[in-house]
Amino acid sequence: MTDLRVVQPSLVLPSDQDATGRTLGDEELALLAEVIRSGTLTSTKGIQVPEFEARFAEVLGVRHAIACASGTAAVHLAIAAVDPEPGDEIVTTPITDMGALSPILYQGAIPVFADVDVETCNVTAETIERCISDRTKAIVVTHLFGNPCDMPAIEDLARAHDIPLIEDCAQAYLARSRGRLVGTVGAVGAFSLQQGKHITTGEGGIVVTDDDGLARRMRLFVNKAWPYGEPGPDHEFLALNYRMTELQGAVARAQLEKLASGVAQRVAMAERLTSALEGVDGITTPKAAPGDVHTYWKYCLRVDERKVPGGPQALAAELKVGGIASAPRYIQKPAFRCVVFEEQRTFGSSRFPFSLARPEAVDYDEARFPGAFDALAGILVLPWNERYGDEHVDMLAGAIADAVGRLSGGAV
Ligand SMILES: *Cc1c(COP(=O)(O)O)cnc(C)c1O
Repeated sequence: MTDLRVVQPSLVLPSDQDATGRTLGDEELALLAEVIRSGTLTSTKGIQVPEFEARFAEVLGVRHAIACASGTAAVHLAIAAVDPEPGDEIVTTPITDMGALSPILYQGAIPVFADVDVETCNVTAETIERCISDRTKAIVVTHLFGNPCDMPAIEDLARAHDIPLIEDCAQAYLARSRGRLVGTVGAVGAFSLQQGKHITTGEGGIVVTDDDGLARRMRLFVNKAWPYGEPGPDHEFLALNYRMTELQGAVARAQLEKLASGVAQRVAMAERLTSALEGVDGITTPKAAPGDVHTYWKYCLRVDERKVPGGPQALAAELKVGGIASAPRYIQKPAFRCVVFEEQRTFGSSRFPFSLARPEAVDYDEARFPGAFDALAGILVLPWNERYGDEHVDMLAGAIADAVGRLSGGAV
């Protein structure tokens, strides 16, 4: 008899980087064909992007949804809509995608980094509060890996200080905080449709809001601040062309109809892995807060180095032997350790907007971020997608249990 826990190299995991792990198919092709036949590829004249926006707003239960070119653009719309003065501060997280941070600098504002909770890698009301100053113009939270931040406390904090709250939901489609869809708790929710997200158009983004004023400013920011359809139009302020094309809009419409089932499968398979790993000593599985729904962009394990010698690095190396890819740390370092922040490389040699920053706002001393450094050192991130089935999860669980067994067995 073969040991069932031995890795079967023949079972290749679906990947979100190609067709094996994506749900692109006939529905996308049919809508794309419509666009090509119409000859109208721009959303200013087409129907696909407006339809996608209307349907996305309906799914989220909000008044406005505005599509754009990327998740980075989506965050940029939100920042531009709150319109910081140069040197204003925006409190955010050091464990996120750079696309959530560069828009802050482009709008002349200073990202001020709040530390994160070691267990979730998310910012908390407490860590955000320590960063609030009289220059704070907004708070941007990232629901990392699909696990909602502690929104009730963060919402209270934002309200108490009368600061707009922006949710970066690029990794958290249909995740819920105490029943509420993320992206609808704060003033603006921003989403990405990049290749590796829950749904994709290759590149793309969308924002949602219930605020008519913010919606108008975001709509303008996508369109070089040109108010299409309004009387007496003019370019109202500095803005870019961040439009989504009709080709992307067609794919987005078809993808959106597959979102709920894809999310359900991601969650079901994540729960299966979590229960399979229950007895594995030295591994902590991801957990949503009571009442919250985690929608698993990735499956993030914590590895206790005292019980699993070599920690996440060693576990990743063991899994790799069995053909299983994983990412220790997720990102190699907190965002503020990247060159753009360390050397303040922005516009020419000006260092703008860092040149306007309060010293405390740009103090990246390690001692101020114990949570972020500990969090990154302890995690192992497994790719995840809606094409994972029982067989993939069981193979993964077996491989992880075996690898942990080998590593801890090797401990003296
Ligand atoms: C992917 C991502 C972004 C950026 O989205 P792009 O579409 O790649 O520009 C922003 N924030 C978070 C949290 C992300 O995961």
